[in-house]
Amino acid sequence: MEGVDEVDTENLPRVALPMATIYDEEAVEVLRKQAAVQPHTLKRFRNVLFKQAAGLEEALEILPVEQQAGFREGLQAEVLTLHEARVSEIDGAEKLIFRTVDDHLIETVILKPESGRTAVCISSQVGCACYCSFCATGLMGFSRNLSVAEILDQVRWVNRRIKTEGRSVRNVVFMGMGEPLLNQAAVFEAVERLVDPAWFNLSGSHVTVSTVGIAPGMRAFTERLPTCRLALSLHSARQSVRERIIPQARKYPLSVLKEVLEKAETRGTVMIEYILLKDLTDRPEDLTALVDFLGDLPVHLNLIPFNSFIGSNLEGTSYANCTIFCNKLKNKGLKVTLRHSLGVDIMAACGQLVQHKLKIDKNID
Ligand code: SAH
Repeated sequence: MEGVDEVDTENLPRVALPMATIYDEEAVEVLRKQAAVQPHTLKRFRNVLFKQAAGLEEALEILPVEQQAGFREGLQAEVLTLHEARVSEIDGAEKLIFRTVDDHLIETVILKPESGRTAVCISSQVGCACYCSFCATGLMGFSRNLSVAEILDQVRWVNRRIKTEGRSVRNVVFMGMGEPLLNQAAVFEAVERLVDPAWFNLSGSHVTVSTVGIAPGMRAFTERLPTCRLALSLHSARQSVRERIIPQARKYPLSVLKEVLEKAETRGTVMIEYILLKDLTDRPEDLTALVDFLGDLPVHLNLIPFNSFIGSNLEGTSYANCTIFCNKLKNKGLKVTLRHSLGVDIMAACGQLVQHKLKIDKNID
């Protein structure tokens, strides 16, 4: 498949921002030294910015007046600009489209389940180089990796937006645009900051990186971030079917993924994602293969109804049949849930809104 092996997504040039940002640890340290700000004062400055989700001006008030100018002139707070927001009338889910400094659009989804535990689904790349047939992001092709600042700014933006509702982000899932494990360096660093008590201070069990199955990245993730959660987009336990819908499956076959899962020493349970596609992944033989593959692995299986989009020729399994499939797996003793789709009316699945917008902008819809 064109694009899969050719693009070395890890080693592309990084986008340059006009000024250092609040996420730039080294630049902030230089400013701290120049202005002779005490480390504990910097800690309070970061608390206000990242835990209380305040604006830069409010955070600057933490610093002695004479030390504020250096920080104000040397740092920018916002990395992304909000381009558009859509709110679901069904469940309050919000889809935000952000514009990067070099004019790319990325998307972030805020999910507000009734439990009150706000989750945010963030992007790790502009577009994607994996070209999975069920995913709208794949249709856009790959443009570039997001930086640590661009990844973290999505979370800070959301916290600022929902603050007035008395909410704050509790869960972060890397299930927006892109393949996080093909932008490993930035994603790992961003995850570390999300769980760092001095930064966002989230619990590791509330940060999930979802991958199409990049085996070396999965190994590296479980070694470096054992308290965080990994999700594998399996979608089929039959090698031939998986290859049809996920080109990367040729590079990292099921046998390799199984070995990685067996050896994974994460504290949280690995989540297995599985989209139910009519006559493709929902047949009796798919069910048998899935039970065989998962065997005794300590995983949680999440069945996902397919979210259809313009340009896709796939058909999702009916909700009634999804339920039947789910119950059969339960009867086999698997830990399984059927995902209730949030934000269907705002096209909340991966890549769908940006894709839709690009089409409208180009007048080809
Ligand atoms: N590249 C990563 C993360 C982005 S996709 C990965 O593959 O896991 C995150 C999840 O979005 C995928 O597992 C898939 O479950 C879901 N997804 C993508 N397109 C979808 C669609 N059209 N309908 C339902 N779920 C979809």
